[in-house]
Amino acid sequence: MTKKHYKQNNHPVFTLKIITHTNHNISQKEINRNALKVLQRLLNAGFEVYLVGGSVRDLLLKKKPKDFDITTNATPEQVKHLFKNCRLIGRRFRLAHIIFGREIIEVATFRGHHKNLKKNISMQSKKGILLRDNVYGKIHEDVERRDFTINAMYYNIKDYSIHDYFGGISDLKNKVIRLIGNPKIRYREDPVRILRAIRFSVKLNFHIEKDTAQPIQELSYLLKEVPAARLYEESLKLLQSGYGLKTYHLMRQYNLFQQLFPITSSYFTKDYSSYTEKMLSLVLNSTDLRIEAGKRINPAFMFVAILWYPLNILADELAKKNKLAYYDAIIEAGNVILHEQAKTIAIPRRHTETIREIWQLQLCLPRRRGNQAFRLMELNKFRASFDFLEMRGVIEGKEIEELSKWWLIFQNAGSNIQESMISHF
Ligand code: ATP
Ligand code: MG
Repeated sequence: MTKKHYKQNNHPVFTLKIITHTNHNISQKEINRNALKVLQRLLNAGFEVYLVGGSVRDLLLKKKPKDFDITTNATPEQVKHLFKNCRLIGRRFRLAHIIFGREIIEVATFRGHHKNLKKNISMQSKKGILLRDNVYGKIHEDVERRDFTINAMYYNIKDYSIHDYFGGISDLKNKVIRLIGNPKIRYREDPVRILRAIRFSVKLNFHIEKDTAQPIQELSYLLKEVPAARLYEESLKLLQSGYGLKTYHLMRQYNLFQQLFPITSSYFTKDYSSYTEKMLSLVLNSTDLRIEAGKRINPAFMFVAILWYPLNILADELAKKNKLAYYDAIIEAGNVILHEQAKTIAIPRRHTETIREIWQLQLCLPRRRGNQAFRLMELNKFRASFDFLEMRGVIEGKEIEELSKWWLIFQNAGSNIQESMISHF
């Protein structure tokens, strides 16, 4: 193990540790074939090139990486030159995507410092001008832009060593989530890092280090500044990746869930007793179980569930105030609720349509006379609507529970029994 020390003005101090290939447990065989091809070709062309981020972390933990990100000193144009199957994307920071059928390997050029830090104007502005023209940097600059120590390890394809700048290996061993640099500054630069700290802590079962955890609650309001489209993506990673229930509890504890889902959390109680809270637990738990069982999940379903009781309360109010029929009130309340939710989380239109449909079907499921039950069963969204009805049955009991039991029997019954089940309506 070699050690080099660096000290720089305004930048976090790091100690580079190089772990040679005999001293770590990553074997080349575990690296995705296409990622290896990209690494090799860049290396052979004379560039510095590393596997980086979550893949190195997960390989060290003997977990299956989600993706294999690569970083290099080659510029995107140089990368494109080497690969026929390469597409350059992104305007603010260009990235190369190497396309292998359905798989994409992302190659990023080392990032430099392109954000000026407070005062010290002359130096910083000088730097700023220089860096605005050239945001690419050296590996030791790239590493400072990364979020957590465990995400800032580089696997060098040249000699199979791991370059660990901020003690990632030791934090991995001690199961610690630690931000690189000053946590307050790093959270202000990009508040999504707050959510990432929570996400990795739950997913890896790691402890958030004291200084990294301390400012979270105080800075939670910063999430309001994050574009709603990005928060949509993050909300899925947080709540629909297999650890939703645990993540929700931790987010709630740090006042983060409240920022992303203000309507839902306005029904939070001290003892978790509201219908909304019960529904949240139920839907997140069932999503976690589905993921564990390898089943498909539809993001619309979660939003259906967590907005349903607030929707009903609003619909009641609207029905009274505007003398609307309940069905119309639900439609109207649906518009209001989805519009409000879109201010923090931009749910794509294809999902909002499904959400409305499942909500409206809740009002249709009690109508089973004549051919109605059969027609309902043929609808595309019947299955999801029934699954949701079952959850409501667990929470509300009484008629809803009976209704969901009726539908369960009806779906599985032969046609004689089905006929007799609807004959008495
Ligand atoms: P996952 O298993 O969720 O893919 P990951 O660590 O690979 O985890 P990505 O979102 O794929 O996360 O990002 C890849 C790498 O890019 C991270 O490991 C980290 O080094 C860096 N990174 C991603 N997002 C940020 C951010 N908001 N701020 C700083 N660095 C980031
Ligand atoms: Mg990743």
